[in-house]
Amino acid sequence: MRLSAYFLPTLKETPAEAQIASHRLMLRAGMVRQASAGIYSWLPMGLKVLKKIEQIVREEQDAAGAQEMLMPTIQSADLWRESGRYDAYGPEMLRIRDRHQRDMLYGPTNEEQITDIFRGALRSYKDVPKLLYHIQWKFRDEIRPRFGVMRGREFLMKDSYSFDLDNAGARRSYNKMFVAYLRTFARLGLKAIPMRADTGPIGGDMSHEFLVLAETGESEVYCHKDFLDFEVPEDVDYDGDLQPIVDRWTSLYAATDEIHDSEQAAALGDDLVTARGIEVGHIFNFSTKYSKPMNAVVTGSEGEEIPVEMGSYGIGVSRLVGAIIEASHDDNGIIWPESVTPFKVGLINLRYGDEACTSACDTLYRDLRRAGVEVLYDDRDKKAGAKFADMDLIGLPWQVVIGPRGVKNGIAEVKNRADGERIEMPIAAVVERFA
Ligand code: ATP
Ligand code: MG
Ligand code: MG
Ligand code: MG
Repeated sequence: MRLSAYFLPTLKETPAEAQIASHRLMLRAGMVRQASAGIYSWLPMGLKVLKKIEQIVREEQDAAGAQEMLMPTIQSADLWRESGRYDAYGPEMLRIRDRHQRDMLYGPTNEEQITDIFRGALRSYKDVPKLLYHIQWKFRDEIRPRFGVMRGREFLMKDSYSFDLDNAGARRSYNKMFVAYLRTFARLGLKAIPMRADTGPIGGDMSHEFLVLAETGESEVYCHKDFLDFEVPEDVDYDGDLQPIVDRWTSLYAATDEIHDSEQAAALGDDLVTARGIEVGHIFNFSTKYSKPMNAVVTGSEGEEIPVEMGSYGIGVSRLVGAIIEASHDDNGIIWPESVTPFKVGLINLRYGDEACTSACDTLYRDLRRAGVEVLYDDRDKKAGAKFADMDLIGLPWQVVIGPRGVKNGIAEVKNRADGERIEMPIAAVVERFA
C-alpha cells in the first residue's frame, strides 16, 4: 500500500478524551473513530489488525476441533424469557421492538440462541459432543464505556459453546478451550494467565478468566510469579488427554479480586504478584443451566432423557486490539507483534522527488509485494522527520529506509521498531530478508 493513497488519518495531538495509551494510540494512528459512546468505526488499518487477531483466534478454535458458524446479532426476546434471563439481564441489554411490536434485542451473548439451535437439531446421545463457535458483534449497554475498544458497548467477541453428555465430557471440552486459549494468546504475543473465576450457584472449578497483566487493567489480580515464565504447549493433540496441561496451569495460585482469598495468597510470601489485569477471555462450564429450562435434551442408550451439559467460552476480539497495544508500546507509538501487524514492513523514501531514491523505493516496493511481503510505502511529499514519527507511531515491526546517501552505494537502512536497532544492508538483500 502506498501511504499517499492510504486512508490513514493520523493525529499529531493527543485526543483529550483518551485516558490510556492504547486508546490514545488507536486514535492517533488512525485505526478507529468513535461513532457514539462505546461504538467505533474501524478504519482500514484498525480493521486489518482486527481481522488478523480474528484469524488467529479462528485457527486455534479450528485446531481444537470447534466448528465455526454464524448467529445473528438481533435475537428474539422470547428465547431469553425461556431461560429466565430476559428480566435478569437488566439495563446492559439493548432492547428493541420491531414494527409488529415484537420484543427483540441486540445480543450481548448467545447461550439461548445456540441452545435453541441445538435442541431443534440433535436428539441422541450419539450426537454429542459438539463444539461450535462464532465470531460476531455483541452489544452491552455498559454503564461506563471507556478506554476505547477495551470497554465498548458494541464489540467483537468469539464465543464457543460445548454440548456433552456428562460431566467428564464437559471437562474434556473445557480443557480443549483452556489449552486453545493458552495458545491463542501466546500467538498474539501476550502473556495471559488463567485465573480461577466465580462459578456462582453452579459451583465447581470450571471457570477461568484469562488476564493480561497491565497497569491500566480494570481488574485487581493476584498470582504466583512463576506463571510469568510458564511455557505454552506446542503441537497439542486435542484428541489426547489435556488434563496434565490444565493441571499444570492451575497448580499455582491465581485469582481476580472477585474470589481472591487473602490467606491463601499470603502463604505465597515473596512469590505473590499483585497487579492489574485485562480480562481477554473467559471460559465457563454451566452444566444444565440453559439445557434444563430450555429443554435441550438427548435420549440416552436406555431411552432416558438427559439434559446436555454445556459450557461457553468467550474471547474479546476487539478488546484484544487494545490489550496488545497496552502490552506493547513506547513513548513514540505502537510496537506490533509480527503475528498481528497490519504490515510487516514500512518502506520510507527519505527524499521525495529524488530520482534515485524514488526509483529504488518503487522497485523495492514492487519486489516486496511480489514476494508476498505486506508493505506500507511512505511515498509522500513530507520531511524525513515526519515520516519517521508516523512510522514509529503506527508501529510496524520493520522500517526500511532509503535515502540519497545510501542509495548511491545500493544500501538501505533497516530498523527494528521494538529495540530500535538499525543495520545497513544491500537493497538487493532486503526482499530475501523479509520474504
Ligand atoms: P468485563 O468483566 O470486562 O465486563 P465480562 O466478564 O462481562 O467482561 P464475558 O461475559 O466474560 O465479559 O465476555 C467474554 C469476553 O468478552 C470478555 O472476557 C472480554 O474479553 C470481552 N468483553 C466483555 N465485555 C466487553 C466490552 N464491553 N468491550 C469489549 N470487550 C468485552
Ligand atoms: Mg461485563
Ligand atoms: Mg468479567
Ligand atoms: Mg467474564
